[in-house]
Amino acid sequence: MTARIIDGKTIGAALRGRVAEEARILKRLHGITPGLAVVLVGDDPASAIYVSSKSKAAQEAGFYTFDIRHPGEVSQTALLSEVKALNGDSSVHGILVQMPLPKHIDSGRVIDAIDPLKDVDGLTAANSGRLMLGETGRQHGLVPCTPLGCLLLVREVLKGEIAGKHALVIGRSNLVGKPMAHLLLQENCTVTVAHSKTQALPELSRRADILIAALGRAETVRADWIKPGAVVIDVGTSRRILPEGRNKLVGDVAYEEVSQVAGAITPVPGGVGPMTNACLMRNTLIAAALQAGLPQPDV
Ligand code: NAP
Repeated sequence: MTARIIDGKTIGAALRGRVAEEARILKRLHGITPGLAVVLVGDDPASAIYVSSKSKAAQEAGFYTFDIRHPGEVSQTALLSEVKALNGDSSVHGILVQMPLPKHIDSGRVIDAIDPLKDVDGLTAANSGRLMLGETGRQHGLVPCTPLGCLLLVREVLKGEIAGKHALVIGRSNLVGKPMAHLLLQENCTVTVAHSKTQALPELSRRADILIAALGRAETVRADWIKPGAVVIDVGTSRRILPEGRNKLVGDVAYEEVSQVAGAITPVPGGVGPMTNACLMRNTLIAAALQAGLPQPDV
């Protein structure tokens, strides 16, 4: 079997198109232009690339963007004041603080300083709690962008056939693994969460109809871990140095061999990454509507 390639670029572009259309309607009917503030601390080149692609996507969606940069040695107090000022700025509907932050800053405190209504990354305790309680419903509110993007890809492949499937999520971070597990639980999957202490992971994987790999270990998931026909979503992004010295972006899944067994698979790049970006635009649009007391747009 050769797996269907799940094209996150095309699916993400379609979502961004729907968001841009809803943003035009929001402006025409209510005079609101969604505003996204992205805060970058330090000069990590990968973070700088992520931030500029988020700002570019926001501009393409017709949003206002606010790029805020701080040197790596910025104090926690200064960063918390920045977040507080953005919370109080009515032209800013979404606040994203790019992670990771330097070690001297307590990321948890910075995240929890964000107004939950502006928390477009869905990482505050309030929004994480709402997801865990199942209060976000099938449309979901402000939930973390990467797992939401993964769920939209799974829905695209399985259409209405998700309920009852066995889903394995490898990874239990607050950013990806845990929210992913809760989203799949809300879809009525039977969910298993694996982590670095899990035993017999290949055997566990072979029972999964849906496998989400978010462990951050290059090409760890092999063909003999996969149930024939399974849907495989690869969240991982690692750099592999090729013999000729070039480096290549690879996922957590050994793509070539797993494609021979899976029913559908996301490539890296071009799978989950574009969905993360598109879901950030979706969340910013939703945040703008909710802050104006309007119903959540159905994008
Ligand atoms: P993370 O915070 O480092 O979490 C990794 C998780 O994987 C942890 O729960 C860890 O277990 C588990 N793990 C590590 N090695 C394992 C192993 N050998 N077997 C089973 N589980 C293992 O990473 P993250 O933030 O969730 O991100 C995961 C990957 O996704 C990274 O490559 C990251 O770059 C990528 N990512 C991509 C996007 C995108 O948009 N494409 C967005 C976010 C993240 P313990 O809890 O026991 O340590």
